[in-house]
Amino acid sequence: YYEQLQQSERLKMVGQLTAAVAHEIRNPVTVVRGFLQFFDEDPSFDDPMKRKFKLMIDELNTVEQIISQFLTLSKPNGEQKLEKVDVKDVIESVTGLLHSYAMLSDNQIVTYVEEDCMISINKIEFKQLLINIIKNALEASDVGRSVSIMANRNNNFIEITIIDEGSGMSEAEVKSLGTPFYSLKSNGTGLGLMICFNIVEKYGGEIYYSSSVGKGTTATIRFLAINDQ
Ligand code: ADP
Ligand code: MG
Repeated sequence: YYEQLQQSERLKMVGQLTAAVAHEIRNPVTVVRGFLQFFDEDPSFDDPMKRKFKLMIDELNTVEQIISQFLTLSKPNGEQKLEKVDVKDVIESVTGLLHSYAMLSDNQIVTYVEEDCMISINKIEFKQLLINIIKNALEASDVGRSVSIMANRNNNFIEITIIDEGSGMSEAEVKSLGTPFYSLKSNGTGLGLMICFNIVEKYGGEIYYSSSVGKGTTATIRFLAINDQ
């Protein structure tokens, strides 16, 4: 428990610090991108030059993405509104969003979701949580594999399970999950799960990973159920 507390304090500090920096970086990035877009539309520049502008704009978009991820960490607890959320609705919307991403590697997303799984959470953050975890599952999967998403009520809790048949992780790798900047991907930020763990904790939930190298990974998320009436 003490360790958990320390982890939570550390996350809060990382959040506050990086949010301040991220905020300061965002404005100049927006200005520079605005000029590049302006040059890109200027007929006095030739095509090779315009390709370079486009590259620069792309890179700045990446910077923007990373900053957005940082900024979601920084909102103080009370700031997001709590909603009564139907887990099935959100899973449907998230799998819809990720459908074409999955198709790129011929992966399927399969869902088994019970009706009337209601939780109290901020919908946008809940979506972000699921997107990050499902994206990781897809990114770990070979071509043609499936990612299964299950949700059901278990006593007073709603349990959501995301199962992949991907590369899996060693025990040490599982232990590193959620550490800022921990990523084994060449283009990863290593922020996704830090944000996820933060969201789960903020709404009083729990998250567990179990994994087996070469076989796949299961993420289990649990939130207190609310009665739908
Ligand atoms: P990123 O996706 O940017 O690398 P994350 O915080 O989302 O950052 O994930 C951190 C790391 O955890 C990943 O780089 C990957 O090595 C590992 N990981 C997360 N989810 C899975 C999974 N389902 N299967 C295998 N490895 C995973
Ligand atoms: Mg990720």
